[in-house]
Amino acid sequence: MEFTEKALVLRVGRFRENDVWVKLFCAGRGVLTAFAFGGSRSRRRFSGCLDQLVLASFRVEVSRRGPYNVLQEGVLLNAFPGLRADTRKLGLVAHCLKFVEAVQLESSGARPVFDLLLETLVTLESGAVGAEMLPLLFKAKLTFEQGLKPDLALCVRCGRPAWDHDCADDIGPAHRLAFSVERGGLVCGLCDDASAEPLCAGSVRVLEWIGKSRPADWPKLSLEPEMRRELGRVVDRFVAWHLGLRWENGTYRKI
Ligand SMILES: [Zn+2]
Repeated sequence: MEFTEKALVLRVGRFRENDVWVKLFCAGRGVLTAFAFGGSRSRRRFSGCLDQLVLASFRVEVSRRGPYNVLQEGVLLNAFPGLRADTRKLGLVAHCLKFVEAVQLESSGARPVFDLLLETLVTLESGAVGAEMLPLLFKAKLTFEQGLKPDLALCVRCGRPAWDHDCADDIGPAHRLAFSVERGGLVCGLCDDASAEPLCAGSVRVLEWIGKSRPADWPKLSLEPEMRRELGRVVDRFVAWHLGLRWENGTYRKI
């Protein structure tokens, strides 16, 4: 069997003298490993395609002898030169690629994440997403797109409206909001949940906005450091609880 599909190269390695393995994120199939025999020498079949962060159209043969994939050919679509030339941006990209690989997408959920990743790369290449914001936005958005969008309207404990959208950000202690990571949504000021993370109304609005935004909107967002820390904590705990992933020593670990 054979298929041709658009894919982004997440990782590349060599084995034996001229052979290459690649970890591909295929638009319609999710992440898979494939082998390019003779790949390190064949300019004709793989010209410029066997590098990390290359978008290409790959023709792949699924071997009859075992469940592995053999690359037959690649046509380069985009090598993101603007990202390659900027080590700071490359660091952010690496974070996003590692997250995608760690999430272990089902093939049915791959397409929206693929589109999200490409839009993120194009936005980052063209300029201005704050470095401190990008991993948080990407992580949150990808998690929400996996059917894990938090409930930000009703209290997850009592079912009442969790907060008044018209309220000011500095609402008093009686109306303080909190976010229950385990239950995946807001806890109102009347319910007590000691394990919930405190969250100001402004941060809740940002979470709502992330749910509706696309990467092209992200450069518009700027946050005070305090709110960024608050959101970072909530998103990291949310990802750890629902996807079982934690960022440790420069990589995502299954927990
Ligand atoms: Zn409540």
